[in-house]
Amino acid sequence: MKLINILVLTATLFVSACVTPGVMSDPQPVLGQLKVGFDIDDTVLFSRDNFLKAQQMSDDPAHLDYGWINQHDSVYSVTIEPIAELIGFLRAQGHEVYFITARPGINGDAVARHLTRELGFEILLNENLFFSPKQKDAASGHKFTTKHTRISELGLHIFYGDADNDMVAASVAGVRGVRVVRDARSVEAYSKNYFGDTRSSAQPKAPFSEEDYQKFLSGGVGPYGETIYPIFFAEPAISE
Ligand SMILES: [Mg+2]
Repeated sequence: MKLINILVLTATLFVSACVTPGVMSDPQPVLGQLKVGFDIDDTVLFSRDNFLKAQQMSDDPAHLDYGWINQHDSVYSVTIEPIAELIGFLRAQGHEVYFITARPGINGDAVARHLTRELGFEILLNENLFFSPKQKDAASGHKFTTKHTRISELGLHIFYGDADNDMVAASVAGVRGVRVVRDARSVEAYSKNYFGDTRSSAQPKAPFSEEDYQKFLSGGVGPYGETIYPIFFAEPAISE
């Protein structure tokens, strides 16, 4: 009987050692190599038209079909070229690049294939592309970002994103957040979660106006202390 107990204990210890989470989720850092994370929507992809099309097709615009959205970036989304160049630059220097999006992950492999085609290197689901949807606290009803958990697990050093939530996630994870300036057409289409809401009337939840936003831009620093990184990928219309 004792022998059986010893064998069971030994087997248990062996299995435990093999699946210790700390071993798997704590990759050794490579000296001199940065791990840089990017949000996707309005950071890597100008995806406004993908979301607007999904809204038009939905009976309930509050519940978008993310399975459909994730399969249609190749049709409706445009790659933000300066960010693609930045990613190419980072990789050429030997740094690692990861993507973390708050989109739900249904058909997420289609996003991986699209980014692979657009950015020219292999992007694989749950290897360098992660879906990290918001969660809702049952008690308070607050929705909150979960990106900070993935940022920490991956050991990122920098995280680029356009939304307030991206900056909060970077701050909570203790890494440098860099805000990519959202295209004005996207701000027009969905202004929430962007410096509060620059298009809303002044209120405690949305204290920053368009004028404040321009001040942040000119100062290069946002309300969370993050660096602001403006992207211009379309020439502004020239008025005669
Ligand atoms: Mg975004």
